[in-house]
Amino acid sequence: MRAIQVQRLGGPEVLELTTLPVPEPQAGQVRIKVQAVGLNFADILAVRGEYLTRTRVPMVPGMEFAGIVDKLGEGVTHLQEGQLVAALGGTGAMAEYSVIPAAAVLPIAQNLNAREAAALPVSFYTAYFSLATLGQAKPGEWVVVQAAAGALGTASVQLAKAMGLQVIALASTEEKLEVARSLGADEALLNTRTDLVDAVKSITGGKGANMVLEIVGGRGFQDSLAMLASRGRVLVIGSASREPSQLRPVELMKKNLSVIGVWLMPFLADVEVMSEATAFLTKLISGGRAKPIVGRTFSLEQAGEAFDFVWNRASTGKVVIEP
Ligand code: NDP
Repeated sequence: MRAIQVQRLGGPEVLELTTLPVPEPQAGQVRIKVQAVGLNFADILAVRGEYLTRTRVPMVPGMEFAGIVDKLGEGVTHLQEGQLVAALGGTGAMAEYSVIPAAAVLPIAQNLNAREAAALPVSFYTAYFSLATLGQAKPGEWVVVQAAAGALGTASVQLAKAMGLQVIALASTEEKLEVARSLGADEALLNTRTDLVDAVKSITGGKGANMVLEIVGGRGFQDSLAMLASRGRVLVIGSASREPSQLRPVELMKKNLSVIGVWLMPFLADVEVMSEATAFLTKLISGGRAKPIVGRTFSLEQAGEAFDFVWNRASTGKVVIEP
């Protein structure tokens, strides 16, 4: 089968299109014929060796995908061959076939196609855990969503609106702000503004926002703290800027602020929280109240171009790679 393989860490130049044997599912596993792979910022960081976990080579990148169940390993009874599913694993998606534990297969709403299904798991589950599980968002609260036109951003804006929040979207271009507005953002501000904190304060009637989804990190982190209302929460989800953020814990005292770290991966082993998230997301998406936003689509041969596209901030929504 055709696959993208990485033998040494680096930028898009280390992605090799190669031929590998079709993998066989073991007991408890399932083989999926991959139709679409969601490209995450984390995949690019992993290939560069800059992700939260250590990258071991050789590896086939790609943590989320959608495709057709092709072969069931021993003991897997709840899936059927021929069924379209989404999956969230660690690596191995950028190939014609991928074998994963059956537990990593996620049910999907009937109204999604393969591209949309591939664009869902990382962004929507992370947005849910940030806003609902960890952020304890309440209807009527104001949330600032950074990189709001990106993959995680577009999921977060839609989810926040569905939860009854008021959304201030931040992004680097007018086109990106328009994407956020089209998904229901109440306000949209260029993140290059020097008066960003004042603008958020003024929109929120002088009080400040209740939550910030910190996706970019770096120097803007100080602004995130400054734009919060009393008892506000910063959800630290990403650091797309790859700049260090400064935090002096005593700064949190004056307004009773909380800084909460978010990482999707540990949630995957929590069956109760995962099924709560799945129930919420499936209902929302099958009811047409939210949808994964698919940006540009690339072929497996164009994987390097796709990596560059996201890395250079050219993407909106989720970039998808089709084997
Ligand atoms: P996006 O589609 O959001 O793309 C990244 C966006 O970040 C860009 O479009 C850009 O938006 C913004 N950005 C700001 N500064 C930079 C920079 N220097 N280089 C590149 N981009 C920059 O990607 P994802 O949705 O895949 O991920 C967004 C972030 O969230 C990443 O840091 C990722 O690791 C993290 N993440 C974390 C998860 C978790 O479990 N904690 C799960 C999912 C994602 P703009 O031009 O508008 O500024």
